Amino acid sequence: MISTTHQPATDLGYLLMKNPARCQSFPLAHGQAHVFYPNAKPELCTAALVLDLDPVGLVRGAPGSAGEGGTLRQYVNDRPYVASSFLSVAIAQVYGSALKGDSKSRPELAETAIPLEAALPALPCRGGESFLRRLFAPLGYQIEATQLSLDPQFPEWGPSLYWSVKLTATCRLKDLLAHLYVLLPVLDNDKHYWVGSDEVEKLMAKGLGWLEAHPEREEIVARYLKHQRPLIREALGRLVEEEEPEVEANEQQKAQEEEALERPTSLNEQRLGTVIAILKQAGARRVLDLGCGEGRLLQLLLKDRDFERIVGVDVSHRALEIARERLNLERLPPKQRERIELFQAALTYRDSRLAGHDAACLVEVIEHLELPRLRALEQVVFEAARPATVVVTTPNVEFNVRFPSLPASTFRHRDHRFEWSRAEFAAWSQAVAARNGYQVRFLGIGVEDPELGHATQVGVFTR
Ligand code: SAH
Repeated sequence: MISTTHQPATDLGYLLMKNPARCQSFPLAHGQAHVFYPNAKPELCTAALVLDLDPVGLVRGAPGSAGEGGTLRQYVNDRPYVASSFLSVAIAQVYGSALKGDSKSRPELAETAIPLEAALPALPCRGGESFLRRLFAPLGYQIEATQLSLDPQFPEWGPSLYWSVKLTATCRLKDLLAHLYVLLPVLDNDKHYWVGSDEVEKLMAKGLGWLEAHPEREEIVARYLKHQRPLIREALGRLVEEEEPEVEANEQQKAQEEEALERPTSLNEQRLGTVIAILKQAGARRVLDLGCGEGRLLQLLLKDRDFERIVGVDVSHRALEIARERLNLERLPPKQRERIELFQAALTYRDSRLAGHDAACLVEVIEHLELPRLRALEQVVFEAARPATVVVTTPNVEFNVRFPSLPASTFRHRDHRFEWSRAEFAAWSQAVAARNGYQVRFLGIGVEDPELGHATQVGVFTR
């Protein structure tokens, strides 16, 4: 049910393009959708969208259905009664124009933020109330959620996984519909239909303008795409690019700023030299450069025949393009070309292509991730990929006062989400090592200040 108190509230009928005076029905693939208005007054108007799904129809023709050893569960299930991907499909079909933001008679109202409320009487919340809140709160909704009991007659059976939820916000109707369209199946962690690459297009279209910067972006994408890795990778790559195109375009300039800042110590060259030395000392032949950026380390690795296989990974398509040019990838002789591979991926996502390497480098990368995402990166690198050696470099924030041109308490790079002291980096590294069966030792790069330490700190993890 969607309500508004924007006056005259009955304009909701023009926005949804459904007349408040009538009850209308629409055929769906597996049943019918009905739209009617329990309330249509100038001060408050509510439109209800009710699905009448045919549980037997849902099963017919589905793999494993009766005749193929179907189970009772296929006939007796929650699908007809809860808000799920069936409701998303109905929203797109029945409220299609409103979802696009079209309204024949109230076009300006369709573009106006108005007070709206969506009431969902039975919402499956896989991930519980906290996940529900993490999905909707960042989008500006007030959330009222009451957990439904399994059976009100038998309170001792405890709560169900269904919630009665009210979402209120002042926003455009099309935004509310897009949020519901994407997030209902995400909460349900299921979809009733096969998910292919056109699903990525739908997600990009409906997620435009809000999904790029959503803190739960990765979980939303994973669930929406039914946990299909290649689709998830494609979607995340595209979202990150769309997030802040102007920032992307600025990437080079920002890197130059950081370089200029650190130039007196030519820190970058020393950093790369040290990393190569560590890799050689460890006898690494197959090397991952995670967050390879524009490929400076890759270039050095490629020059050294000790490294047989070199893989550069970055989430930024633009950075990889620059790396490809820098490395002259298209013009390398075949023998050289075979040694190196670049691909786009988010390091917070498990990826089987990362397995089977001797060493991984994370050179000035961790500080670009939000702190809570580090745990995911840890799992991807230390738990899943598990190379024998991992080299992590990150700024030592204590040293920042030694950069004359850096204003007090600013980071060295505008994209840094944090910069750590030596104690902070050591604490994180030791915890990661302990959790994953690695040992860690610490080195410094650049000038050493007797009190502040080195400009760059390095953790070398081995197992
Ligand atoms: N290692 C390079 C680049 C460091 S800048 C060098 O030393 O020059 C940090 C890089 O990490 C950027 O290229 C950024 O796109 C990448 N990055 C940030 N977050 C990432 C993530 N979650 N997954 C993959 N790459 C990421």
